Amino acid sequence: MKTEKGKPSLRVLICGGGIAGPSLAYWLARSGHQVVVAERFPALRATGAQVDLRGQGIEAVQRMGLLDSVKSKLVDEAGVSLVNAQGKARATFMANTSGHGPQSLTSEYEIMRGDLVRILHDATKDDVEYVFGKAVERFDQDERKVVARFSDGSSNEFDLLVGADGQGSRIRGAILPPDGPDPYLRMGIHMAYWFIPRIVSDSNIRDTYNARGGRMIMRRSHNPAQTQVYFILRQASDEASAIHKAPIDDQKLFWARKFRNAGWQTGRFVEGMAATDFFYSQEVVQVRTQSWSKGRVVLVGDAAHCASPYSGMGISGSLVGAYVLAGEINRTIEDLPRALAAYDATLRPFVDEIQTLKPLLLRLCMPQTQLGIDALHSLAGLACLLRIPDLIARFSKEDRGGDWRLPDYAELA
Ligand SMILES: Cc1cc2nc3c(=O)[nH]c(=O)nc-3n(C[C@H](O)[C@H](O)[C@H](O)COP(=O)(O)OP(=O)(O)OC[C@H]3O[C@@H](n4cnc5c(N)ncnc54)[C@H](O)[C@@H]3O)c2cc1C
Repeated sequence: MKTEKGKPSLRVLICGGGIAGPSLAYWLARSGHQVVVAERFPALRATGAQVDLRGQGIEAVQRMGLLDSVKSKLVDEAGVSLVNAQGKARATFMANTSGHGPQSLTSEYEIMRGDLVRILHDATKDDVEYVFGKAVERFDQDERKVVARFSDGSSNEFDLLVGADGQGSRIRGAILPPDGPDPYLRMGIHMAYWFIPRIVSDSNIRDTYNARGGRMIMRRSHNPAQTQVYFILRQASDEASAIHKAPIDDQKLFWARKFRNAGWQTGRFVEGMAATDFFYSQEVVQVRTQSWSKGRVVLVGDAAHCASPYSGMGISGSLVGAYVLAGEINRTIEDLPRALAAYDATLRPFVDEIQTLKPLLLRLCMPQTQLGIDALHSLAGLACLLRIPDLIARFSKEDRGGDWRLPDYAELA
């Protein structure tokens, strides 16, 4: 098969309809390839809490022509406060809305994950075949093709299989050597988030509250009716790592137990957890692997290089990765393994940048003792008084993706 421009047209199966899968589908369909997105969830999984776009991720969305759609769905979050048990702000960092310099803790581009999923789906649904309720169970490949086996017993042949199946990627498990190193870098941090009804005192500033024992609570309100609650726990234990796969009721019991007597508005938040219609929990990890492809199978997004919510670059990394993968496939379409190697070589420096961790800073932000919490509040208060965040915004040129620039692909223009 050939595209309209006379180039070979590939049949591509993308496993996963989150952020990275539809972003890649967008670029591939636009350049004339036949794309199927298989999503194991029975419908568009347009859920999740608040996510942000930064640096190169904003440019990737702009190149897709979707920045206005994103702007029309932005969440009004003016900044972040560290609050004490009485709810009094001890330090407040406002968003950098100057249009210059890096984003602060709150990005200028805060959006609900569900809205972003819907924007990407709307932009692709006419040119891409979406199949819901169908998981890719396994695959076989040779030099000419890859045969995907689906959860409903069916199978089909493709030129390329892309694992856009998230942090716990099954496709990644199948292409990495079974005795290779663990792809997860665990940070000993767990989080759960859910929605509760908003009350009058819930402002457009994100409140962050620390409790003894490495516990943190965040409250942010994304619309007039709802407030998001995040419980974050610094604890490296098998129990905490296992809880995210337990039945939801057991997960809720776990979080209520761990945050007993945490103070501030914990009672209201735990009560709201019981009745919520959205609840999600995860271990905070990074995914680090030596390689992102094998033959005609390749990984994109969190499956390849999850940077963790603490990087602030998970969504941006997925959008950028999808763009680079599509660009390299089109550039070297006659030789897929070479295209996939070029994808790795081009994107890797950016991923190394967004995966740079500051473990000491993470620990400092989640103290175990009241003394540590008081010190954190004093330091943060002093930084605000001296306007240090403003100075950083004014004088640094780069956001969290460093000085790596999005490549230009004539094939995607
Ligand atoms: C329901 C949900 C809620 C989330 N909420 C937040 C949030 O609030 N804040 C945040 O920072 N990050 C959140 N994330 C993670 C965030 O979306 C990712 O870090 C980032 O966007 C990278 O996107 P991705 O497309 O690589 O992975 P994901 O967004 O995780 O998407 C992966 C998709 O693959 C599907 N899938 C998995 N296995 C298979 C299979 N075998 N066959 C077919 N489909 C499969 C999953 O159902 C999912 O839709 C959430 C993820 C999910 C799935």
